[in-house]
Amino acid sequence: MSENCLFCNIISGTVPADKVDENDLALAFRDINPQAPAHILVIPKLHIASTLELNDDNSQYLQAVTQMANAIAKNEDLSDQGFRWVINTGKYGGQTVDHLHLHILGGRQLNWPPG
Ligand code: 5GP
Ligand code: ZN
Repeated sequence: MSENCLFCNIISGTVPADKVDENDLALAFRDINPQAPAHILVIPKLHIASTLELNDDNSQYLQAVTQMANAIAKNEDLSDQGFRWVINTGKYGGQTVDHLHLHILGGRQLNWPPG
């Protein structure tokens, strides 16, 4: 828990969010500024600042995030048409919140390469 972290405050309930799924290790909620008809963020319930902080000691959180993301893709009917996972890291990666989060984007044709 990092008191100044927006997503830690969503985990603690200090900041409200439109929750989609939750367990002991991970939390999913809808992005406040959706870039696709389905845009859900899945975060570890441990303050991991970015992918660069992933290691053997916290790898169970990444596993929980990816398992939850797959369950959500199925529940939100995204799996037949396809969808995209995105994790931005650092300034050039476009990361704006320093708490690891996996974007699930779906519900429309997504373009490649990204901007
Ligand atoms: P990043 O740019 O770091 O990869 O993604 C951060 C995401 O968090 C953005 O898509 C942004 O819209 C979303 N976001 C920022 N503040 C809030 C908030 O207060 N609530 C929710 N639900 N999403 C937020
Ligand atoms: Zn945090």
